[in-house]
Amino acid sequence: MIELKNVSKFYSNNGIVTLGLRNINLKLNKGEIVAITGDSGSGKSTLLNVITAVDTYEEGELLFKGNETSYFNQNDMDTFRKDHVSFIFQNYNIIDSYTVLENVMLPLLLSGKSQEQAKQEAKEIIERVGLSHRLHHRGTKLSGGEKQRCVIARALASDSEILACDEPTGNLDSKTGEEIIQLISEVAKDKLVLIVTHNYNQVAEIATRRLKIADGEIIEDVFLKETRENEVEEVLTLEEKKITKGTYFRIALQNIFSTPKKTIFSTIVFFVISFITLLLFLMMLQQSYETYSSTIPAYSLQDKERVVVYNLDHSPLKKEDLENTSHKEIYYNAFYEETTIFFKAENDIEEFYAKLTYHKLDYKVAIGKEPTQNDEYFIVLPNEYQVYQYRERLDEQIMVTTGSNSGEKFGTLVGVGIGTDIGQPYLLCYESYHPMLLEASKEAVQIDHYLYLDGEQYNLKRIYSSNSRLELPSSYQTRDVQMKHLLEGLYPLVIEYKTIYRDDIDEPLLYLDSSAIKNFSYDDKIYEAVIYTSNVKAVQKQLEEQGYIVSIPSDIRVEASMYNLAILYMFLALSIMALVCLFFISYIILARVYASKNKDYGVLRTLGMVKKQLGRIVILEVLATGLISSILAFIVFLIIYHTTKISMGDYMNFGIIVLYFVAVLIFSFFIAKRFNRRLYKFSANTTLKGEVARND
Ligand code: ADP
Ligand code: MG
Repeated sequence: MIELKNVSKFYSNNGIVTLGLRNINLKLNKGEIVAITGDSGSGKSTLLNVITAVDTYEEGELLFKGNETSYFNQNDMDTFRKDHVSFIFQNYNIIDSYTVLENVMLPLLLSGKSQEQAKQEAKEIIERVGLSHRLHHRGTKLSGGEKQRCVIARALASDSEILACDEPTGNLDSKTGEEIIQLISEVAKDKLVLIVTHNYNQVAEIATRRLKIADGEIIEDVFLKETRENEVEEVLTLEEKKITKGTYFRIALQNIFSTPKKTIFSTIVFFVISFITLLLFLMMLQQSYETYSSTIPAYSLQDKERVVVYNLDHSPLKKEDLENTSHKEIYYNAFYEETTIFFKAENDIEEFYAKLTYHKLDYKVAIGKEPTQNDEYFIVLPNEYQVYQYRERLDEQIMVTTGSNSGEKFGTLVGVGIGTDIGQPYLLCYESYHPMLLEASKEAVQIDHYLYLDGEQYNLKRIYSSNSRLELPSSYQTRDVQMKHLLEGLYPLVIEYKTIYRDDIDEPLLYLDSSAIKNFSYDDKIYEAVIYTSNVKAVQKQLEEQGYIVSIPSDIRVEASMYNLAILYMFLALSIMALVCLFFISYIILARVYASKNKDYGVLRTLGMVKKQLGRIVILEVLATGLISSILAFIVFLIIYHTTKISMGDYMNFGIIVLYFVAVLIFSFFIAKRFNRRLYKFSANTTLKGEVARND
């Protein structure tokens, strides 16, 4: 079955070349039980490793069933071992955290058998090696002899043609050792069995052939018993067997649950990273919001479809110019559409402010419900506002004042929403109530009264009175006196009152009846328009060409101050550095945890899992741990947020949650990948060869 032609093997470590094997010529056949003997360091393990594709060779050719193997790469070697070789080492290479049954089922599952079938066959095999009473015991609970029986059972389950044993009884007492050798001979039928031993007597009874090695050369090759000669040659196919998705998940889960301490530890590490990551993300978001929210533009209604039009000199606009645009809606002279109103709960000194508008608002209900009847109020807050301070005010009677006395309306706060396009809080109320409130809010509109004395401008305060009049000192009769009333400082108003000259005053006084203001009659010209359109840019261009000033509130951005920006960037840089450090530290910790599972993964590898397959299992394990930990951290954060109302929680949004999970998963993935690479750097050479080499 196997033929070695002039095979030589050299080890080179740091430029020092050691001889492993020299010019080995050997033919090995099925049915043989070959005892490989020799002094320690003579090359027994090396020969076994070369024959079983654990290690490469440098010269000559090794033929397996007539097929050359010198071209094998790492993957080919893995696949070859899986299909053709089972190992029994001195160190009982079973997965200690698995039960006997799970250990023996592994090769069956890896060869594509179903869970049920694997279980069935494994039980029968375990029966054969006399371990049925230990079926559900974990590896750690077994004696040395029992472990070795478990290994033999697993070798049987692999059903490979070559059984490679390196000092299989090295750690056993002589009686147990004899039992194991006996068991090996029982299962040896139709296999090529290679037993490396320095205690030839123990295997003398069962061996059919004895090889003696010294200094990497065969110095003795004795046939002890008649065995079958040369089998037929066949074409060697190195195909990876497909493992079902279910098997991947099952093995990954089995690994997670069979090592609870390691799992809990790595979960805690992942939990800490996740939690701190979430906190840092939210802090970064809060910091940026706080920096940029100081830049809320004058137009607080920032609907993406909203365009505001006026003339620089406040001269009237042409209606047809506005209507010639591709608009959805136009509002003319919506002076009070952004009136600031104040509201406060009945027994509360604290006043909150909001704006009132009849323009549409985009918002989502955050707490409570929308208004369904008169005198129910609903507040829409910008994204970055804190909802919780309104929570306590739900269902409270609140008083809304719009400036002058008659602008008071009582209502109940029934809910709070989060708006997307606004820079300030807005007050919404039930449809039929809204116009009333808007009407009332007209009074709250700021009207500036300017007195011009010989062309010089003075601001006049108005005094409420039942009798509207402008009182001037008598001395003004000879002077050029003019009054101008401007709405919000911009739009000219016509207000009716008498002018009276008095001897007993030194200052001009303006008395106005509140109804005079309420019914102020501004002229019917258009001084300002708000256009809603799906193509703001086109409308802007069109109107600008006609000489209008056009502003798009959603585009207006006021620069944050250099100082605030500097603080923000420093904060972001520090946070990112903290994250990197955190990831680095936890990477070191986690790498250690996973490295402690090296042996288990190495065993999986000796069973023929190729790199890709083992990689998937590691990734599944690590990702599952990372995901569970990050969900836990998220839940813990939510609980903390709901009990303590820490402000950074207010900044949580869908995007940041997605980003958080993606970050933790990418980190887990990175760890899994890195670990995988390390695993593959070491497991074939250390776990497998290492186990063998240590058998000296
Ligand atoms: P045995 O199993 O007969 O005790 P080995 O096959 O393990 O001997 O080793 C044969 C020789 O090869 C020894 O001199 C040993 O030091 C050397 N050797 C084995 N493995 C390595 C290795 N990985 N690197 C360098 N030298 C090695
Ligand atoms: Mg050895």
